[in-house]
Amino acid sequence: MVNRDRLVKEFLELTSIDSLSKKERKMADALKTRLEAMGYDVFEDDAGRKIGGDAGNIICTVKGTKQVPAIMFAAHMDTVEPGIGKKALIDGDIIRTDGSTVLGGDDVSGIVCILEALRVIREKGVEHGDIQVVFTVAEEGGLYGAKNLDYSKIYAKYGFVMDSNGPIGTVAVKAPSQDKMIITVEGRAAHAGLSPEKGIDAIRIASSAIAGMKLGRIDHETTANVGVINGGRETNIVCDRVEIMAEARSRDDRKLEAQTRHMKERFEQAAAEFGGRIGFQAERLYPSFNITEDAPIMDILRKAAETAGIGLITEETGGGSDTNIFNGMGIESVDVSTGMDKVHSTGECISINDLVKAAEFTVSIIRSVS
Ligand SMILES: [Zn+2]
Repeated sequence: MVNRDRLVKEFLELTSIDSLSKKERKMADALKTRLEAMGYDVFEDDAGRKIGGDAGNIICTVKGTKQVPAIMFAAHMDTVEPGIGKKALIDGDIIRTDGSTVLGGDDVSGIVCILEALRVIREKGVEHGDIQVVFTVAEEGGLYGAKNLDYSKIYAKYGFVMDSNGPIGTVAVKAPSQDKMIITVEGRAAHAGLSPEKGIDAIRIASSAIAGMKLGRIDHETTANVGVINGGRETNIVCDRVEIMAEARSRDDRKLEAQTRHMKERFEQAAAEFGGRIGFQAERLYPSFNITEDAPIMDILRKAAETAGIGLITEETGGGSDTNIFNGMGIESVDVSTGMDKVHSTGECISINDLVKAAEFTVSIIRSVS
């Protein structure tokens, strides 16, 4: 059903567009043009203005030909760096770059699956319900587009975020929430040689706190990491200030709260021991989601996998994506593999056969909504 040559051509065209986070203007315009050429009205929300980017999220609603629940397909328009001047090369079944940039298949692979599926259902006269297409900005590094999406335009009941890896048929059904922490440790400066006893060493407080902290893999669904530590000026000054950035994630919100509390307490205890002070800020970057086997969206996916002749593989992920935000907004959503591989590296590549299968699976999803 899927037009392989058209799919590959569109993939090459779209990956050649520079589209770093918050600089998605050219990509947004290209996608608008494509959707409008199919005869659909395209809406761009004001997320760009809110987050300091040059483009908003693209929303396009394709009216259905039958009465079934509305679904949403989403993919993000931005890429990570190095992503300027991307040139995709075809090497047999594999598309890759010359190794100087990422390929941008994350997430152009998702975008082309969605566009191709829209064309296929028209050409083949496939009956379908309402389909809402959402192309987000600034997914990488903060899910800013999805967080600022104009949800007044979205009424889809189920969401399929085309932005995952693994064999085609893989869907992420469980993902953690994440807390980001910024900690400042304040001590007191003093001359390290003349009067060290007058100082309070912020580095000792921080190191004592961190040394006694549970970090790394806490359990099968909880992780924690201290990623950044900055502070100190000279060896002859007792350090009076250290700044630390840390994170914790869990697919169980109670465990996440316990871990974040534990990390805060370790800093507080160490500060009390040495006589320093702590500033502690924690922000929930995104909520977790957990789609169970009996969720209605799983019926659609099982039927779609059967129609497409592929196995459905459900997995739990340790990462966050737009899918977390959509679920948090009440749209039952999963993250679907498009076949992208080695993402966020200059070795990024994708198999054309996988991409075709992913597009076929996208069509099957549309056909399986009842
Ligand atoms: Zn992605």
